[in-house]
Amino acid sequence: MPKTHIAEIIAIGDELTSGFRLDTNSQWLAQRLGDLGVTVLYHSTVGDDMNANVDVFRHAFTRSDIVITTGGLGPTADDLTRQSLAVAAGVELELHDDQLEHLRSFFARRGRTMTPSNEIQAHFPVGAVVVPNPEGTAPGIELLQRSTDRETTVFCLPGVPAEMKQMFADTVGARLQAITGQTQTIHHHVVRCFGSGESHIESLLPDLVKRGRDPTVGITASKGVISLRLTTKSDSVEECLEKMAPTLETISECLGDLIFGFNDDTIEAVVADRFKQQSLTLAISDAGLMGAAASVLMKSKAPVIAAEIADFSSDEVAAQAVAIRHRFSSDVGVAIGPIERDLEIVAAGESNYRIAVSKQGETQTHDFSFCGHSAIRETLAVKRFLNVLRLL
Ligand code: ATP
Ligand code: MG
Repeated sequence: MPKTHIAEIIAIGDELTSGFRLDTNSQWLAQRLGDLGVTVLYHSTVGDDMNANVDVFRHAFTRSDIVITTGGLGPTADDLTRQSLAVAAGVELELHDDQLEHLRSFFARRGRTMTPSNEIQAHFPVGAVVVPNPEGTAPGIELLQRSTDRETTVFCLPGVPAEMKQMFADTVGARLQAITGQTQTIHHHVVRCFGSGESHIESLLPDLVKRGRDPTVGITASKGVISLRLTTKSDSVEECLEKMAPTLETISECLGDLIFGFNDDTIEAVVADRFKQQSLTLAISDAGLMGAAASVLMKSKAPVIAAEIADFSSDEVAAQAVAIRHRFSSDVGVAIGPIERDLEIVAAGESNYRIAVSKQGETQTHDFSFCGHSAIRETLAVKRFLNVLRLL
């Protein structure tokens, strides 16, 4: 049996302990470690305090084989990671001349002067190995800490998520594979669907969501988006994708248009891309129901040339879509209006919308009725609206 490596992630910074920032670095790292077959047993979060940092390191050395920290590698007085690691490991900090050179040229290339405080970033605990940071100033640290009954490998990475991720991808991931002897990587690929419920989507798939399959297919729902997560293990990401290809094909055949994208795709980004690809502009007239829809589209850089709030009734929704298209000479006109219904038959918490889309002289009308918690009703309504545009 190969040894199980226990890992601990330490997130460092007052912003985190005070609740000003959410610790997404730990979330990301825990997922990557899981993919590499490393068991993450502890997440620690600690503020910018020397004693507390030393304490957390010492504790981690007693219980974890792999420690990854993020944050506190900068040049300022509150950045204490390198110092606290040295104290906890019982070693001095020493200057790495090549790193000082690297820092100097980093600043020179950007036409900035290097302040003396930056020099601390060229100091490393004795025995440490540098983890290169191609995009930033703060290099990372790898240090092997031996105590009587355990060897702990510590990796210190910067707090800035983009730098941390790149350094993990470039260096730390391969080091972890070397340490654990695990050569296979677990790869996930997510198919994003919208337009039907979780159980209906599952029923369209021939026995894919079952145990013991390879790749495994898991199904989850969040705010109307149904996600199918494929997971498999192989020597490389390419091989994993190859293994997944037949399953992906089956899913695509079974679900067709219900699939809007993969992995991090959002409906709004997909809609925005389609409009841009086809050079189509959009004008929206909203009877005050779905202001969020226009702003979501604009944030995704969809070519929305006009968005207005207007007053119109159910019967006028279709005409309104045509009118706004003409008024702004857009390729597509959309109107979102109310559906007036007898109050007696409208359930509490129910919202009813009529959406009309006019494109090149053709107008479609869709009626929607939403229930559910008020907090997600609007989000769902916006997604259904975006889905109408996606399927256009
Ligand atoms: P720098 O050289 O930029 O100071 P650093 O290694 O000292 O890097 P921090 O100062 O701790 O890192 O954090 C830099 C920024 O990175 C923070 O302002 C925050 O935006 C982000 N950040 C830090 N830690 C985390 C975390 N755990 N999750 C998400 N974002 C984080
Ligand atoms: Mg900092």
